[in-house]
Amino acid sequence: MKKITILGSTGSIGTSTISVIKKHPDLFKIVALVANKNFSKMLEQCEFFSPDWVGMKDEKSADILRKKIKEKKIKTQVLSGDKEICALASLQENDCVVSAIVGMAGLLPTLSAIYAGKTILLANKESLITCGYIFMNALFDNHAKIIPIDSEHNAIFQVLPKNVQKNLGSVSLKKNGIKSIILTASGGPLYYLKSKDLSRIQPEEIYAHPNWSMGKKISVDSATMMNKGLEYAEARLLFNALDNEINILIHPQSIVHSMVEYIDGSVLAQLSVPDMKVAISYAMAFPDRIISGSNFLKFTQLKCLNFFEPNFIQFPCLKLAINAFKSGQSAMTVLNAANEVAVSAFLNSKIKFNKISEIIDHILTSSNFLEPNSIEEIFEIDTKTRIKTEKKILALCY
Ligand code: NDP
Repeated sequence: MKKITILGSTGSIGTSTISVIKKHPDLFKIVALVANKNFSKMLEQCEFFSPDWVGMKDEKSADILRKKIKEKKIKTQVLSGDKEICALASLQENDCVVSAIVGMAGLLPTLSAIYAGKTILLANKESLITCGYIFMNALFDNHAKIIPIDSEHNAIFQVLPKNVQKNLGSVSLKKNGIKSIILTASGGPLYYLKSKDLSRIQPEEIYAHPNWSMGKKISVDSATMMNKGLEYAEARLLFNALDNEINILIHPQSIVHSMVEYIDGSVLAQLSVPDMKVAISYAMAFPDRIISGSNFLKFTQLKCLNFFEPNFIQFPCLKLAINAFKSGQSAMTVLNAANEVAVSAFLNSKIKFNKISEIIDHILTSSNFLEPNSIEEIFEIDTKTRIKTEKKILALCY
């Protein structure tokens, strides 16, 4: 039986993970669950699983949860605070840790699991791309393993040769017979909209993704295609891929979740209905396969599968992210921090949708940090960038 801790258990990825675990009580045991404020969903999860531990980032929410857990006579210990959450991510009994906190907030707990040599089932791409090779080196140094949950990277992982799967991030794709990785993108909910209409987009329209149901931040990232830019960086790092070994294609149906093109002309793809439970269950059971609870593809009902080149003028965030990765780690850390602040400002109706890319572009071009050599230096860049981005947004508002 695999023992699992879920970081971000109340979110979109977290609840999909819970639903896979509910189908397989004989295969998985939850050791600890971590979230921020959503004590009511956490209470439901505690009632069902009685995990040994729960971590709530928000202290007030932890207090409320503690009371409710006591009333219901559930034997779960509720902790709060950053150190405690990191301790839960590195518990000795954990076999694997699902990293599904949203944004840079997931970095320290994910690193804590890495330092403890755990298998990380990674959804939280921001923690990887914001630290880059520092993150990857921590994995290698601590003999920790990573299996991607992000659907595209999970798809690629599924069709990679065993040698690359086993040595993720450290072997040459070319030497393993691979010509390129084809990263697919849905294009997001605004793909067919004209640029001039983007300023009128409201947050609620963004949540209505045609294929996927996701958390708020990644829904906006998907609409700006920043998500694909972050995934480009994630793929470069996870698969040790060169720039010319990654191609991005818009595939509006979200059926082909990504592909690997081999030097003999063969292309291996992973297809399924767009449901994160497929990727999550694969990562959880690897190298076996288990029932995920997802629906099955009905090929005769698929009208067509289209593929288009991305348009960088329509999606400036995609280009900003690719260029930032090529510029170096500090640019990538700046991009991520500026994006998190700008997205949050859009979600709180402080800025218009089309300002997100303008703000990130401005912050990137006006920042000049040295390349970071440690996590402390990453945090310094992140903090300074957040302050600068907040100021820029304030200046725009008045
Ligand atoms: P959600 O917003 O739905 O969930 C985020 C989770 O993180 C919640 O459980 C939230 O708790 C918790 N959380 C937020 N901040 C903190 C904190 N400071 N400390 C502890 N817990 C915290 O996000 P998603 O599930 O959509 O995304 C999670 C990650 O997975 C992101 O990095 C995203 O890019 C990635 N991803 C998501 C996909 C999807 O389909 N949703 C697909 C591929 C990748 P609370 O509920 O209490 O606020």
